[in-house]
Amino acid sequence: MKVGIIGAGIAGLSCAHFLERNGVFSHVYERNHRIGNLFTYGEIVLNLMTRPYDSLEIMNRMGISLQPLSTLKRLVIKSPKNKVEIKGKLGYIFERGQGENSVENQIAKNLTSKIFFNINANYESLMKEYDHVVIATGNSMMAKSITEWENIVSASIKGGIAIGNFEPDTVYVWFDRSYANSGFGYLVPLGPKKASLVLVVTYSLKEEVENMWQEFLSKEKINFSMVETFESELEIGMPRHRSIGKVYLVGNAGGFLDSAFGFGLINSMMSSFYCSFSIVKGYNYEEKVLNLQKKLNNLRKIRERMDTGTNEDIERLIGLMKNPLVKTLVYNTNIDIFSYLPFFMKFGTKKPGKKPGL
Ligand SMILES: Cc1cc2nc3c(=O)[nH]c(=O)nc-3n(C[C@H](O)[C@H](O)[C@H](O)COP(=O)(O)OP(=O)(O)OC[C@H]3O[C@@H](n4cnc5c(N)ncnc54)[C@H](O)[C@@H]3O)c2cc1C
Repeated sequence: MKVGIIGAGIAGLSCAHFLERNGVFSHVYERNHRIGNLFTYGEIVLNLMTRPYDSLEIMNRMGISLQPLSTLKRLVIKSPKNKVEIKGKLGYIFERGQGENSVENQIAKNLTSKIFFNINANYESLMKEYDHVVIATGNSMMAKSITEWENIVSASIKGGIAIGNFEPDTVYVWFDRSYANSGFGYLVPLGPKKASLVLVVTYSLKEEVENMWQEFLSKEKINFSMVETFESELEIGMPRHRSIGKVYLVGNAGGFLDSAFGFGLINSMMSSFYCSFSIVKGYNYEEKVLNLQKKLNNLRKIRERMDTGTNEDIERLIGLMKNPLVKTLVYNTNIDIFSYLPFFMKFGTKKPGKKPGL
């Protein structure tokens, strides 16, 4: 069986990995000259998102064994007037990019399948050569040419490496509509001396992000020296179909990036896991990802609330999160809270109004 995979990112590489575990050695095509995003940044996986399992356990269950940078034990969430601190075994921090221990390089290290670099692949030409083609391009461009695509949220991102002193197990998140709209800023430590500082501004023009970034730094009194700064655009949406004949959409290209907070690392792996089984065993891919879709739908409801909420709504939610009972329920139980969160958010925020800026 011949399988061609477009994109050597998280989804493409893990698909190749899962296929190998089933005895199929694929060809992976990558447009860049090497593996990994050009800029380094930290990503987190929250156990909250993978309940009832621990995030590493879920990867292990799929057959991927990864070494995180550290365990996430403290999450500090700030709004203009409020702050909540959550402690516990909350998840893990991973490095992304070209570093030896980045997630993509950790997966690639154990692959035998051939990766062809510097090839801007096209699914139509690969279809002539391969029995199955997997689109793992990390964006919607190719997906849009094969199926309908619904845009859910767009964001401009600015980030970089902050140099300073950091607690390796603590992540900070800032919500304030004045500089992020319905997005947020966050800091993920990459070690004791450097951290990834990122601002995600929703529904904004690319040109606006620099001003928002400056306002973010000044309002939150952040004055680390910054290196390796980057800007990027993110479009989160959903394809109408995820398998079209022998072509499969996985990872971000398959609409598996969550529209509320932009979590996509584990979803990318999971979509590739199901895709590999569909290729090898003939399972129905669309059916296999229904559970993932259900979670994405719940997170989409949260995104709708975030888009229509105000800073007062954020204050109320953070106030609610400070409640010890809520803290315990949300962070120290095994309940799949995302199934219930849209319901609770009805009480935490005002009724949705008109979507801003659209
Ligand atoms: C700044 C930022 C922070 C994030 N933080 C988090 C986080 O904290 N937690 C989390 O869970 N998720 C996070 N995410 C999301 C997560 O990174 C993505 O969901 C995940 O990387 C998606 O994997 P992918 O394989 O679909 O895409 P990518 O990892 O982007 O890989 C796509 C690959 O395809 C290649 N490619 C594209 N087109 C072609 C082509 N035509 N031919 C050949 N190759 C091609 C690209 O060069 C790239 O290597 C974050 C994303 C960003 C941008």
